[in-house]
Formats: sequence, C-alpha cells, structure tokens
Amino acid sequence: MKTAAQRFLDYISYDTGSDITSETFPSTAKQKVFAAHLVQEMKELGIADAHMDEYGYVYGSVPSNCERKLPVIGLISHMDTVSDPPSAGIRPRIIRDYDGGDVVLNQEKEIVLRTADYPSLSTYQGQDLIVGDGTTILGGDDKAGIAAILTGVEQVLADGAPHGAFCIAFTPDEEISRGTKYFDVEKFGADFAFTLDGGKLGDYQYESFNGAQAEVVIRGRMCHLGRGKSRGLRNSIRIAMEFQSMLPVFEDPANTEKHEGYYHLDRFDGRVSLTRLLYRINDHSREKFEQKKALLREIAGFLNQKYGDPVVQVSCEDICYNMYDRLKDKGYILDRVRRALHSIGVMPNERPVRGSTDGAKLSYMGLPCPNLCMGSENAHSIYEFSSVQALAGVSRMVCALLTDLTPPEEQEKQM
Ligand SMILES: [Zn+2]
Repeated sequence: MKTAAQRFLDYISYDTGSDITSETFPSTAKQKVFAAHLVQEMKELGIADAHMDEYGYVYGSVPSNCERKLPVIGLISHMDTVSDPPSAGIRPRIIRDYDGGDVVLNQEKEIVLRTADYPSLSTYQGQDLIVGDGTTILGGDDKAGIAAILTGVEQVLADGAPHGAFCIAFTPDEEISRGTKYFDVEKFGADFAFTLDGGKLGDYQYESFNGAQAEVVIRGRMCHLGRGKSRGLRNSIRIAMEFQSMLPVFEDPANTEKHEGYYHLDRFDGRVSLTRLLYRINDHSREKFEQKKALLREIAGFLNQKYGDPVVQVSCEDICYNMYDRLKDKGYILDRVRRALHSIGVMPNERPVRGSTDGAKLSYMGLPCPNLCMGSENAHSIYEFSSVQALAGVSRMVCALLTDLTPPEEQEKQM
C-alpha cells in the first residue's frame, strides 16, 4: 500500500494549474491528464465504476459492506491548483525530523520559510516536513486532499472493516470558482459530503463568505483643459477616488480577520471620461453582506445628487453564499467530523473560511458539504508546506469518517 505522502509526491508532479482567462471547461486540458491518472488508480483500488465524465470530473463509488442502515458519505477534493505562483516544475523536498526552526527553501534566491512569519510551522517539529524550493507552489491545495482520500479509502477496503456506501469526486477548476459548474449532485448520490480543502490537520469549517462582485462605472466629461471651468470638465478619476474614500477605511482585507467582512478594491481603470472600479464584497453575515452592497448604491446616489447627473452606476452580482445557512440544522454532520478527529487523537478546531469552497456552492445545490482539513498549509504561496505525518493523519480521519457506524439521523440538529 502507498502512503498518503507517496501519493502526494506523485500527484504534484502533474501540473494542473487552472486558467481564469480560458473559455474551455476544464480551463486547461492538462487537468484531464491528471484526472485520467486518478481514474486508473481508483480502478486499481477496486473502485469499479471510477470514471471521468465529459467535463473532466472524476467520480467513483463503493457500496456498503454491511447490513446496517448508514448514510451515503461523499468525499470531494479539487484537482486544479492556482497558476500564480507557478504550478509547473514543483521540486519537493522532505526534511526528516524537522527541528522546528526556519527553513531555507532556496539558498541561491535567499528564500526562507520563517517561523516568525508562519508560527504554526514550529508545531511540525519532529515531523517529516514537505516543502518546495520557493519558486513554485507545493500543490497541497488540493492534492493533499486527494492523496488523503485515496489513501484512507485504500485502508478501509484493505481492512475489510464495516462501512456504509460512499462516493468520491475530484473536481476541476475550483481555484477559478468554476468547480461546481457541471457537478452532478444526483449522480454523485451522497446524503452529505465533505470537501477536503481546508489546511492544518484538525481544522474543519462550516462557515464561508457571502460574496459578490460589484462594478462601479463612472462617466466623466472631457474638454479642452484651458476651458475646463466654462465647459464643465468632470474628471471621472477624481469622482472614483471620492467614491473609494467614502467606504469604511478599515473594512478591507488588510485590516480584517475572523468574522469581519470587507470591501476589496480589485481593479481601478481610469481615464477622465470613464473610470471603472471592480470590488469584491465578502461577509459571513448575510445581513451585513446586504448592507455592504446597499452602501455602494447609497454612495452612488449621493454622488449622483452632488453632481446633478447620473454619473455613477453600480451593478452587483452575487457569487456565493455562506454554507452555514444550509448547514445550521445539520449539526449531526459536524458531530461525525468531531468523532472522527477525536478517534484519531486530534483536537477538532473549527474556524470560518475567509473565502468560499466548492462545498459552499454544493450546499446550495442540495448537497450539504462542510470543509475539512487536507493537511497542508499556506495555500497559494511559495511557502506552502505539509508533512508526512499530517497527510497520514488526514487519511486516518477519512478512514474514521467512513467506518463510523452511527445510523443516519432522522432529526434535524442545530449547530
Ligand atoms: Zn483549495
């Protein structure tokens, strides 16, 4: 049997960076190469119906091997990675019996993973740390999840321990927010599922952002600058700066944490006659989320009144909602997570996702789906790291979830 770390090192040799500018699905064909590799491996594990569908999703299922009535549990991870930092040519290194100090990732480029910057690093002391060379991502987000799922499943099948039916899906294009676009919830067939996409061993999450994208278009009026006063010159760049200055100063991603939402100015394209601002608006609270969008419209209204013309236009598009609203009466799903973690000697640590996950969208598509750890930290960065022991721990958590013989809960249970 392969260990989760062996699988992980195999998987990160595949470049699966997704591409937000692509109009194909999946956004990059190389994701399907990796998907085909996973299908092959799943078949070798005895998952007879493993297959890749026309969109590049990988599905597979295992029937129950016991008489008990048990829920059908789904396990999901995504196959793509970000492409910035680069996702190709990952050169992993295992530091055996890590001493808990700073790690030089790249001597030549003087790239150092410091405990001062990443305090949780020192908690890996004594483990076999897995790092990159500081020029690429490591790929733990989310290949650590895939490695842990298949290792856990292999273990369950090898042990012959009683388990309920379960199903597995690996999705493309999660990093560009398209991971659930063609996900077939009905075909998948789970009563509830877990994404393994969440960081340090023990972490689990059932709250995510309500998120929207807002475009603010400001129309100015250009004329000969020398006659600006008499011809009513109106500089849309200045009005855009005025708009931005009316937003709450500290409600931005650099000044918020935990349950604090924010406005993030993502793009500012300005000329005198036309300026466009793009914002991301995120908040865990639906009420505050709606208030944030309303404030943008209020500011636009104020400026339109001030300039006596409809110069500012705001359009908002909701992108995702907090999964909590779909999970709050399903506390029994989280009970399974806590039981699984306790059974492997890991302290459960719940914290809100400051972002969204495939599972948040799936929860709104009828498949309740909190997010669990995948055993890798510092996602989307050259400082990503994991450990042999963390990956093994997550695969043990998978075993524990699948072999939990608690019958399906008939009653709702509040969180
Ligand atoms: Zn991820």
